[in-house]
Amino acid sequence: MKNIAIIGGGIAGLEAAANLLAKGYAVVLIEKSDGLGGHVSKWDRLFPNGEKAERIITELLNGIKRFGKQIEICLQTELQYFEKKNGIIEITLTNNRRLLVDAVLICCGFDLFKAEQKEEYGYGIYDNVITSADLEKKFREGNVVCKNGSVPKRIAFVHCVGSRDEKVNNTYCSKVCCVTAVKQACEIKELYPDTEIFNLYMDLRMFDRYFENMYQQAQSKYGVQFIRGRLSETSENKEGRIVIKTEDTLIGKPLKIAVDMLVLMVGMQACASASELSAKTKVKIGSDLFFDTKDLFLQANLTNEEGVFLAGACTGPKTIPDTINDARSAAGRIHHYLS
Ligand code: SF4
Repeated sequence: MKNIAIIGGGIAGLEAAANLLAKGYAVVLIEKSDGLGGHVSKWDRLFPNGEKAERIITELLNGIKRFGKQIEICLQTELQYFEKKNGIIEITLTNNRRLLVDAVLICCGFDLFKAEQKEEYGYGIYDNVITSADLEKKFREGNVVCKNGSVPKRIAFVHCVGSRDEKVNNTYCSKVCCVTAVKQACEIKELYPDTEIFNLYMDLRMFDRYFENMYQQAQSKYGVQFIRGRLSETSENKEGRIVIKTEDTLIGKPLKIAVDMLVLMVGMQACASASELSAKTKVKIGSDLFFDTKDLFLQANLTNEEGVFLAGACTGPKTIPDTINDARSAAGRIHHYLS
């Protein structure tokens, strides 16, 4: 039986593993955190239909469970050593396991942008400045309140935090945060119909099927307000409210608004381990630190190194369906290579 090492136990790693196991390969799934499912496992509901993220994770886990001993899962483990000789790849893991494998699939995913880097937005300084991931945690816990336990009467969402931003070297669009902001704004209005919501955006990128409808509904059904402008400054007033300054660039007027909660829509960036993995495996990364595919159009799962493949958001921002399809495609590519 041929052996495949998969680096990353997020949704791409799980889907690719299930596909490879079904084709009769033995899989070692290497995950640096203490659990499987990646970012999706920390999310509450998904766009565009409010589906529970938990169902996706449960189904992906069920997809690998039925293969029993054909899969080995190594949690809190990373790749330590990698060497390719005559088509066989020798890897050593941080748990001291030494393995000989026939192919390696990198699907280490992405990291969320660290909002502290944008000091002017006040994350880590003011209690009621949170990220989209923090808000999702509040949804999961059923606890969408301000730090003092009060219901927020006014909330602002700030788009493009850590994306399309030369100052932090992330010039690309993260693709999913506009629609996530609209989803979260509507969910808040479902919880608290009287709460006022403002979305501060540069451009709205509602690119996929149903997304534009969500945006229309956010305005017509829920009364969410959209302001085209970049946040320039935040401060906290005596009442503990966050005062934000921006300019409505559509009408050319400066705006100053006091809100009870400020939600920063943090974008995706290359995972922290991408550079190290690239150095060990010799798979190229771009200046944005995401992995480079061999051919953007026709060979998106192949790399410059034979026997090493890519799947998921380690090659750039992706939605969940894009990631799942990419993982299936990578499994097919590996099967083709090993046959
Ligand atoms: Fe900005 Fe929207 Fe692109 Fe996210 S999806 S980076 S919020 S434009």
